[in-house]
Amino acid sequence: MRPCDAVGRPPLDELLRQLRRVGEDLGEPHAYEGEVACEPVAGHGGSHAAYLCEIDPDTQLWVLWDAAGFTYALLPPCPARGPREDTVCHLFDGHEPGHSWELGACRSCAGRGAC
Ligand SMILES: [Zn+2]
Ligand SMILES: [Zn+2]
Repeated sequence: MRPCDAVGRPPLDELLRQLRRVGEDLGEPHAYEGEVACEPVAGHGGSHAAYLCEIDPDTQLWVLWDAAGFTYALLPPCPARGPREDTVCHLFDGHEPGHSWELGACRSCAGRGAC
């Protein structure tokens, strides 16, 4: 399995506004260079989706996009646990089959060292 290779370029001002709205501290604004990578499995249905930030352990901010444009959604994290006890899925609850650890390189951890 591999992740979807779609890349989205959400308007940066709206993305930053959404992050501020949920109280995200933009300590590392260079992490948001206006481009996000879709994280669910290649060939998934519905909107593309990229993780933005955690609001609390049960709520994450995601940006979703399709041909119609970008939307922002508060989603719970996928509750699945991986082959190792400390392996967690970095996708949202209810995603299509293919947990993040099954998709090869974990792009959602890029630069965050979460894996
Ligand atoms: Zn996608
Ligand atoms: Zn999962």
